Amino acid sequence: MLPAKCELLKCPYCGKEKEVLSIASGNTFNSKYWSDTKEFHPMLPTVSPIQKCPSCGKYYFKANVKSRMGVDYSFDKGELTYGELKEAALQFEGEERISKDNRQTLLFYLRHIWQQNRKISKDNRKTLLFELMWAYNDKYNREGMDIVEPSDKERSYIEAVIKELMEGYELRDLFIAELYRERGMFEEALEILETCSYTEDYLIEIIEKMKVYAKNKSRIAFLR
Ligand SMILES: [Zn+2]
Repeated sequence: MLPAKCELLKCPYCGKEKEVLSIASGNTFNSKYWSDTKEFHPMLPTVSPIQKCPSCGKYYFKANVKSRMGVDYSFDKGELTYGELKEAALQFEGEERISKDNRQTLLFYLRHIWQQNRKISKDNRKTLLFELMWAYNDKYNREGMDIVEPSDKERSYIEAVIKELMEGYELRDLFIAELYRERGMFEEALEILETCSYTEDYLIEIIEKMKVYAKNKSRIAFLR
């Protein structure tokens, strides 16, 4: 992996800049792939699409902020923990709510502008949901990682996240089967897996492996 001069991300809340990793070239040597579509590339690291400002502590989507090339090198990917991602989700939802409930203001058009600016796009919302699912699995449900048993509260939190993904977005049948399996709905997962028809060898392999995990009533995101 060959690093490039860092990227400077400008916080939309306080205006302070944050240095993050930028790479000139990399490769997929020693990469890992999991059934929940998470990928890990030690030689091709990627920066988190959701970042936390080190100055004011607010979260923002990298794609939505101004950035420029810095002068130094940085190896900071700005990866967020599951706890931080939940905090980010609360912040984003709170901002949307404030904009909707703010009936006190006389300048209603300002409210409208505020709403337009604060509403998270569907794509960003999808990014957030995927990051939450992957981070939850990192902590509680991933093969090859030090995982712990989730509490009932965490289970119902991620259940809502996955449901929103399944109900709100167009997803590939194989991935829908994976999500059913992770929710513990093994019959539903198997039903879809029976109808999946792919010609690519690696996909056929994943389908067969996923069937075994579903039959064994395992929710774990496995290494492909
Ligand atoms: Zn900030």
